[in-house]
Amino acid sequence: MKKITNRIKFYLDALLGLLYPNYCPGCGNSLVMGEKYICMQCVINLPYTYFKSSRKNVVSELLMGRFKFQKASSLCYFVKGGRLQKLLHNLKYEHKPQIGIELGIYLGNDLIKNGLTDFDVIVPVPLHHKKKKIRGYNQSEAIAEGITRAIDKPIDVKSIERVIFTDTQTKKDKFQRWDNVKDIFEIKYPENLKNKHILIVDDVITTGATIEALARKIETIENVKISVACVAIAKKM
Ligand SMILES: [Zn+2]
Repeated sequence: MKKITNRIKFYLDALLGLLYPNYCPGCGNSLVMGEKYICMQCVINLPYTYFKSSRKNVVSELLMGRFKFQKASSLCYFVKGGRLQKLLHNLKYEHKPQIGIELGIYLGNDLIKNGLTDFDVIVPVPLHHKKKKIRGYNQSEAIAEGITRAIDKPIDVKSIERVIFTDTQTKKDKFQRWDNVKDIFEIKYPENLKNKHILIVDDVITTGATIEALARKIETIENVKISVACVAIAKKM
């Protein structure tokens, strides 16, 4: 029976693919059978960092000395104009949370390879509730959802809130950014996170100011450890 259902599903998928072809947001090519949201060519050719989650990597170097963390890792480098930028743009602005889930699965598998699996809970960088309402979802939550499919750990989206709505930060320098973000998060339920190793998850890290603001608030909770994982890290500041 299962075999027949699978076969029907196979033909239905094929038929739907013919009627409504899906395109890969990374390169614009149409997706073929077996490709869900990102085509295989894009998956193979993403600008992977290939670094182990040791302290010697670009994310660690960027965050070092700003707060205390166990490990930090990024799946890819952020390359301007590249396919990953297109994928991340679709994830954020084109209502495609599925891309976040798929990238999250790859990130999760990468964390396994790098030995970053000893955390207790995943905290996606919170979005302000107004922004979440506009976007329909939090892209970091979608990535976290993907990670849990590779590493079975709970996601906490309740204990910390983003209480200040910030404008886009692209034009501000490092110090202005810090001033702008240092109090944007508030811990609502510290008891949920105390004594835990928390994996902070973000889509892209550029200056690291947002992660630092979040981590410094988390550090005020009793006996916590922090690690950081993101899909992409900007190579040059
Ligand atoms: Zn593609």
